[in-house]
Amino acid sequence: MTDSPSHWNQLADNVLQGHQLTAQEGLSILEADDAALPGLLAAAFRVRQKHFGMDVQLYYLENAKSGLCPEDCSYCSQSAVADTPIERYRLKSPEQLVAGARQAADNQARTYCIVASGRGPSDADVDGVVQAVEQIKQDSGLHICCCLGLLTPEQAGRLKQAGVDRINHNLNTSRGFYDQICSTHTYQERIDTLTACREQGLELCCGLIVGMGETHQDVVAVCGELQQLGVESIPVNFLNPIDGTPLEGTKELDPRFCLKVLVLFRLAHPTTEIRIAGGREVNLRSLQPLGLYAANSLFVSDYLTTPGQPASEDHRMIEDLGFRVVRHTTTPPEPVIG
Ligand code: SF4
Repeated sequence: MTDSPSHWNQLADNVLQGHQLTAQEGLSILEADDAALPGLLAAAFRVRQKHFGMDVQLYYLENAKSGLCPEDCSYCSQSAVADTPIERYRLKSPEQLVAGARQAADNQARTYCIVASGRGPSDADVDGVVQAVEQIKQDSGLHICCCLGLLTPEQAGRLKQAGVDRINHNLNTSRGFYDQICSTHTYQERIDTLTACREQGLELCCGLIVGMGETHQDVVAVCGELQQLGVESIPVNFLNPIDGTPLEGTKELDPRFCLKVLVLFRLAHPTTEIRIAGGREVNLRSLQPLGLYAANSLFVSDYLTTPGQPASEDHRMIEDLGFRVVRHTTTPPEPVIG
């Protein structure tokens, strides 16, 4: 029987032996009966445990530049077409960004994410981020991810040289659905930025947003595209339909479907970090802890323009599950002599 626990267990066996999940298998996960969920989660957990044990990686977001964006991404409260009462400010100073890194460490995050709104950074923005990153790397071994929009190869190279470990740039949805959520830049431009960053030796963090009106096939398609790109980290966002954005009023997702999406990503990307990202609290609701049987990472504290649950609740959830937070290394790099 397709939905029986032994079927999913066999799929986990296959994945553990190197089988790459097919689009058809991916679709069968998303369309499985709700009664199959325990079997699906058990299968995902076997794969998660093999590659990540009981570890959970925490990420801390710094909204380094807010609003003022000329783009029209329909899910985003910072876009030119959103009418949302958010703070609007230019890039924070290097000192403010360095102070944010201390907050990240205090919240037990291993990675500090510097996120700036906008189509892409100006060279002056890159200067500010470079200055902050050099200081943070001198102070601590915090892992740093930057999300600054579309980047030129030169900008990506400067960030790499300053010590940035990883770039986040999400595909958000499938190639075929992309023009339904944004008209001011293309899917291909996003791929080009990812390629430029990879060529500069940066790790890639690239994910999606589920719940914007796409089909199950679109979710499977972007999952497959990420297999091709071979990214290190996948944030799986579930749409939080913020008032004032074009997607305001979109119905929240069924939490059981959200779990199936996380299972899909774990089985399709067995060794990749899978993060339950934005919209976790509003869409997974009371099922949040179950998500960690598939995923191995969370954002801790607030999102860019919406609040998350208090960090203490995330820490308690992780502890209650018997998982453990992977701490960042506190040792700064050795000084270069000579
Ligand atoms: S480019 Fe970034 S900040 Fe601008 S609207 Fe799109 S998601 Fe929001």
